Amino acid sequence: MTDAKKWHAETIAIVAGRDRAPGAPINVPPTFASTYRDGGEYGYGRWGNPTWTAFEAALGELEGGQCVSFSSGLAAVAALLAPLPLGTTVTYPGNGYAGTRGLLERLAKEGRLTIRTVDVVNTDEVLAGLENTDLLWLESPTNPTLGIADLPKILGAAKKAGVVSVVDNTFATPLLQQPLALGATAVVHSATKYIGGHSDLLLGAVIVADGGRRDDLVAWRTIEGSIPGVMESYLALRGLRTLPVRFAKQQHTAALLADRLSTHPNVVRVRYPGLLSDPGHERAAAHMSGYGAMLSFDVADASTADRLVASLHLIVGTTSLGGVETSIDRRGRWEGEEGVPPGLLRVSVGLEHPDDLWNDLLQALS
Ligand SMILES: *Cc1c(COP(=O)(O)O)cnc(C)c1O
Repeated sequence: MTDAKKWHAETIAIVAGRDRAPGAPINVPPTFASTYRDGGEYGYGRWGNPTWTAFEAALGELEGGQCVSFSSGLAAVAALLAPLPLGTTVTYPGNGYAGTRGLLERLAKEGRLTIRTVDVVNTDEVLAGLENTDLLWLESPTNPTLGIADLPKILGAAKKAGVVSVVDNTFATPLLQQPLALGATAVVHSATKYIGGHSDLLLGAVIVADGGRRDDLVAWRTIEGSIPGVMESYLALRGLRTLPVRFAKQQHTAALLADRLSTHPNVVRVRYPGLLSDPGHERAAAHMSGYGAMLSFDVADASTADRLVASLHLIVGTTSLGGVETSIDRRGRWEGEEGVPPGLLRVSVGLEHPDDLWNDLLQALS
């Protein structure tokens, strides 16, 4: 553990998860080992690996808890949901990440869980449902409509009511909000996105405040085999080192593009919590330390949106997000996303020059 209480996130991202012994390599190297000689800290490769440990130390410090990493974001989600006792009632965002929704629906169909959807932006609705909830799953900003939940209020109330709460913090990253400090039981990440940051790996993580829960997650990962790859862990930690500087620039460009998009006649609506006119703006300003680098905008209909994507030269049409390259995705084209407005385009803002991005959007919009 570094002196995390004193340091800013930018510093923690650089110093955390390093071996400080004299002569140690500056970066914990990828340890390619399926097994280790008896008598040491590590035994079999599925139980632990020094490269995972380094990544987990760094992300754990940034979130203010103890981190367990998994083979993907969805494996991390599954580690929180699959072992729940039979009959657990889970409340989750009806308009959140489709993968989590798909897993919950499947577990419910098999009779393992009872599920209820809620609009996490509607605080009264969330609070009213706490009574009938064992586990509350939250996502804020939501994917892809970028709604903002009142996390301090909801997490505080859940804690008081004895309801386990989980926040998917993939979009905000620990730089904008740290849900454990607000009372969340667990935080989940798709490190595939901003943390890895270069569209070259899949990795997931859960961060918890309590050591018992950490041990349970490690036990689940060991028995279930949803372990991270060694190279992925190494690359994700390498990515995490530059997360603060990437994210600051991406966020700055996102604000600029959101502003310009909102003045364009062919844009029906821009969804970005940084805009003063955005319904989530006040909430985001109150509990987040920035507005993020994801934005969505709506054009007239699906075919207009598809034509727009096809006429872009610089911005990449693809699913996924959080890389150094700016990417765009019409979410309504995917199965399971039928509720998303058909003309909604989700943009993950990268590190290109903002004027080049804007000019690309401008020519495609006309
Ligand atoms: C991508 C994503 C996930 C799933 O992560 P994978 O690494 O793709 O398995 C979970 N939550 C959110 C918000 C995501 O964007």
